[in-house]
Amino acid sequence: MDITKMTLGALVEAMDKGEISSVEATKATLEKAEKEKDLGAYVTLCGEKALEAAAAADKARGEGRRGALLGVPIAVKDNICTEGVRTTCASRFLENYVPPYDAFVVKKLKSAGAVIVGKTNMDEFAMGSGSEYSAFYPVKNAVDPSRVAGGSSGGSAVAVASYQAYASLGSDTGGSIRQPAAFNGVVGLKPTYSAVSRNGLIAFASSLDQIGPFARTVGDCRTVYDAIKGHDAGDSTSYAGDLDKGEKITSLKGRRIGVAKEFFPPELNGEVRAAVEKALAFYEKEGAEIVETSIGSFDMALACYYILSSAEASSNLSRYDGVKYGRRAEGCAGIDDIYYKSRTEFFGSEVKRRIMLGNFVLSSGYYDAFYLRASKARTLIKRDFETALSGCDALVCPTAPTTAYKRGSNADDPAAAYLGDIFTVPVNIAGLPALSVKCGEDKDGMPVGMQLIGSPYCEETLLSLAEAYEKGGAI
Ligand code: GLN
Repeated sequence: MDITKMTLGALVEAMDKGEISSVEATKATLEKAEKEKDLGAYVTLCGEKALEAAAAADKARGEGRRGALLGVPIAVKDNICTEGVRTTCASRFLENYVPPYDAFVVKKLKSAGAVIVGKTNMDEFAMGSGSEYSAFYPVKNAVDPSRVAGGSSGGSAVAVASYQAYASLGSDTGGSIRQPAAFNGVVGLKPTYSAVSRNGLIAFASSLDQIGPFARTVGDCRTVYDAIKGHDAGDSTSYAGDLDKGEKITSLKGRRIGVAKEFFPPELNGEVRAAVEKALAFYEKEGAEIVETSIGSFDMALACYYILSSAEASSNLSRYDGVKYGRRAEGCAGIDDIYYKSRTEFFGSEVKRRIMLGNFVLSSGYYDAFYLRASKARTLIKRDFETALSGCDALVCPTAPTTAYKRGSNADDPAAAYLGDIFTVPVNIAGLPALSVKCGEDKDGMPVGMQLIGSPYCEETLLSLAEAYEKGGAI
């Protein structure tokens, strides 16, 4: 039996019964990662450290300890700090950066006894939708390697889809968990903004960034989310209130699922539309009511996102100057030269594009026309979602307007890649939780993702609705 193909839940059960050890599962996972190296899912594998952690987990289990993640091999996106393990953000600038501390979520995973097997590849500084902008090598799709993995957390999605980890962590600023989850046919959850600490997540756009889990089943996704959520005094935006406002749904009868008319635009790919509509028909058949609603400000969201996220990125990334942070270029004459050469050499072109865009929208004369207007649009988008969600348990739409496309096909057209974020970015702007679960395939066998969007801190509502779908109504 190939133990890497077990679900996380089944692995823990087998470890509890003493049928499999964490060392065995970790070794098998590391071997699989070596075998699937060509997919480019990992930047760094933590072989030795992982085996040590696995042995410690086995020992603890032998002494009677139990836990939902004890001894489970898990991958972590390479923009989440890991003490003593290189954390690159898939950027040349941080190529040699070894953090002196663990991110809050990594501390949480470690204290739950999880085994960190490696750091996953991504778009440089999490800017992108294909994981083609890694400064090292692209991530390839787990279902069809000639296609993009999705991004920016492409490595985290592919690691899970190709059995190189039982679950993983990614980060989502405008879709970077949900879209690669959809493209590889796995489950990805972007939690409510502030539900999971950003302490130790290398910032892209701080008002939008959120860490969340990938897994092969909804149940496994819940297990990892439960382990990483929670208040952290080290993140000033971390929520100290009740994180469990959701409901464990046990019957779909009478449940209300909202579909905004903006969610199915005429230009939407027909196969994606058909797959999501079929999933909606399932909910209806099981007794849920499909409620037509509207998010009037939906068409503002994409522009609003690319203004706000780039503005924040230009500020966050100004620290990489070759002096205080990041590598320094060789042969510099004076401070200006250090800035100029280091940034020229070590930032990739997409990151430079965002920094320029961000500086532009924040510059005097343009601030009011762009940044300020986008901030106002943000308030409208938030309000529209609140209204739409007030009468529903969740909203449902496609996760992405297409399935995974061929690698290299958006290379000359960044705007085309931005358009692919149309269904995911509004959720980050509104700070809401959302989950992507596979709901079908196109004629080439590429997975289609359905996105469920919920009210703040109602992750459980989304998880149980998705679980009902995954299990075909048997809840
Ligand atoms: N694709 C979006 C972007 O390029 C989202 C990225 C993300 O969520 N980190 O900004």
